[in-house]
Amino acid sequence: MTLDLTQSLSSQVRATSGRPVASSTPMEVWQGLSAAVVAQIADRWDATSKKYAAGRQEHYFSAEFLMGRALLNNLSNLGLVDEARDALAAEGIELSTVLEEEPDAALGNGGLGRLAACFLDSCATLDLPVTGYGILYRYGLFKQLFDNGFQTEHPDPWMEEGYPFVIRREELQRIVTYADLTVRAIPYDMPITGYGTKNVGTLRLWKAEPLEEFDYDAFNSQRFTDAIVDRERTMDISRVLYPNDTTFEGKVLRVRQQYFFCSASLQEIIDNYVRHHGDDLTGFAEFNAVQLNDTHPVLAIPELMRLLMDDHDLGWEDAWEVVSRTFAYTNHTVLAEALETWDIHIFDRLFPRISEIVREIDRRFRCDMAQRGLDQGTIDYMAPVSGNTVRMAWIACYASYSINGVAALHTEIIKRETLKEWHAIWPERFNNKTNGVTPRRWLKQCNPRLSALLDEVTGSDAWVRDLTVLGDFTDADTDAVLEGLAEVKRANKADFAAWVREREGVEIDPDAIFDVQIKRLHEYKRQLLNAFYVLDLYFRLKEGQELDAPSRVFVFGAKAAPGYTRAKAIIKLINAIADVVNSDADIDGRIKVVFVHNYNVSPAEHIIPAADVSEQISMAGKEASGTSNMKFMMNGALTLGTLDGANVEILEAVGPDNAYIFGATEDELPELRRTYDPRWYYENVPGLRRVIDALTDGTLDDNGAGWFHDIRWSLMEGGFDPADVYYVLGDFAAYRETKDRMARDYLDQKSWNRKVWANISRSGRFSSDRTIRDYAEGVWRIGAEPID
Ligand SMILES: *Cc1c(COP(=O)(O)O)cnc(C)c1O
Repeated sequence: MTLDLTQSLSSQVRATSGRPVASSTPMEVWQGLSAAVVAQIADRWDATSKKYAAGRQEHYFSAEFLMGRALLNNLSNLGLVDEARDALAAEGIELSTVLEEEPDAALGNGGLGRLAACFLDSCATLDLPVTGYGILYRYGLFKQLFDNGFQTEHPDPWMEEGYPFVIRREELQRIVTYADLTVRAIPYDMPITGYGTKNVGTLRLWKAEPLEEFDYDAFNSQRFTDAIVDRERTMDISRVLYPNDTTFEGKVLRVRQQYFFCSASLQEIIDNYVRHHGDDLTGFAEFNAVQLNDTHPVLAIPELMRLLMDDHDLGWEDAWEVVSRTFAYTNHTVLAEALETWDIHIFDRLFPRISEIVREIDRRFRCDMAQRGLDQGTIDYMAPVSGNTVRMAWIACYASYSINGVAALHTEIIKRETLKEWHAIWPERFNNKTNGVTPRRWLKQCNPRLSALLDEVTGSDAWVRDLTVLGDFTDADTDAVLEGLAEVKRANKADFAAWVREREGVEIDPDAIFDVQIKRLHEYKRQLLNAFYVLDLYFRLKEGQELDAPSRVFVFGAKAAPGYTRAKAIIKLINAIADVVNSDADIDGRIKVVFVHNYNVSPAEHIIPAADVSEQISMAGKEASGTSNMKFMMNGALTLGTLDGANVEILEAVGPDNAYIFGATEDELPELRRTYDPRWYYENVPGLRRVIDALTDGTLDDNGAGWFHDIRWSLMEGGFDPADVYYVLGDFAAYRETKDRMARDYLDQKSWNRKVWANISRSGRFSSDRTIRDYAEGVWRIGAEPID
């Protein structure tokens, strides 16, 4: 198999470009090499699909899969990196040049979509019969540029030049019917390779197309424009990913998208069941489980009811029995603005039968709860339909056999607050599955230097498939290992500095502390707190304080939802601070601020291996888990964070000497907030007044937008909301003290690198392999099915 990659490369590139490799563009070489990789795995992919189809399977439903790039991932999983490098070198081409041609498949907003991608990687590596289902968005998450420091959004037509890693399966198309529109759903399958296994899993992404290529009757009659309009309405369904992370937007097109991929996927799953197990659908749940990644796919619940009753002759009770043993629901947030609710009139208009079923679920729910003796107020609160509002999370909780949170603290909060009424009735449904990230992409591939050191220290590459083996080497922090870590980090930082110079035009010093906050821009994540620290440090340096502290580079990366003005204001603020600080001759490069534009999976792979400090500073109780905290930990950055989400478990894993934890805790906050007066902090906390005043005294320029005034006002006054909802001023002093201490600690490199090693060697439990094993055993009840 390995011998023919060179041959395959050259014929695939020829087929793509009509030219030999040496005369082809880097893009064409990427296409050809990618096609060669798909050709290599075709037989095993087919064998895996057939094997999984016959037994019990898990289906992972998610509106988002933030996959990033595929080529290096596949080459690495298949053990073909060196061979690909040699094959290209023979043509005078560098592998890295070809890899950088690949667009990111950014079919997701942030953590939720990236989690789905890491999960697929782990399922493939563990040989688990799991298939992902989602939407083939023509446009991924918008591309972000800065115009004078303001975010601008641009379309991301990521597969317009051709994308060899999805295969159109014309013959498997399904019909999805709306009251006003009937469309074809065409599956595009992406192979998901695992590391060190022959199994190849599948991500199935549906694309919407018109029923007939073109309605010629309409075309030839007066209805020409109608035909065009219908065609465009169909194509609209899978046209674009909604760019909202953690906020709900009740757009009709969005609910159409949700129904589209749920209906197509369920039809396919049912047909497969009938093929293998006959047409008595009462046994469906013995062979199929569906994980709902947040509430976006919850329409699958009434849709499965409809398919079972209307197409397969089950009565309501039998159908409900199947449904309530099929679905499991993952909650991803406690933010109220994220809870999906739809006006039932939208359902009436798009799919009246689904509407009818949802109302019947609601009616039966109310009877059921009344029988259990619940009071009317509680029943009304928990009911799937209230007035004209359908609550997707309540449907999910009622119908699912499992409800999970994504970190220990988060699960406690949903049991105690967000979903407490459900927990009171069905405590056995609740469980925790702390998130994880794949060590293949987030360590082996993105950090080859550290990977080589780990191979050396542990004596093999077994850690790639089982990251917990690193735990056996926590005491291996000899001088040689610590020096090795320092060299790896230093070299990664030099690479990153070159990348930043090229991409952002900013010069940074690899000997400075690289302090990084990369994640979606949201007030609860508190990029503002970080920005205030930078500004305060700037003022202190101008005054001649802190001159013996090491130089600092503050790296930000974040997209704001296009409609979230305050988030966009914070981006502009950070860019304005960068303008002031980076160009101030007095500062002389002691602070640099870099806002990496268009943050995405591939930039993350460049940034994380170079980080010293991992900023995880959300207001306690608000971040469900976080996953960048885990990526940083694996790559030897120390966490500067609050006791929120999975930070709690990171602290537990490394111990208090190896993490920098600060700020109000989730259980302290209600009492603190009761008497909270931001003005007192403004007046009394050292440094704060100067920073807040800088927002409006002309130090920082928002080009007349009034946005910096609004930020100040939100902190000091608040208006409709309480002032400073996310407790930025309240936590500032603790944050400043902790971050200052961190900078001083960095000066003792040996002691710092001991902490670095403690983090890397204890990161095993944050591998998504651990998370997926927990789901497979505790929720999905599936086991490994290797194909040989
Ligand atoms: C991991 C990841 C995230 C999630 O980051 P958090 O800090 O956990 O919110 C978001 N976007 C991308 C591109 C990622 O790789």
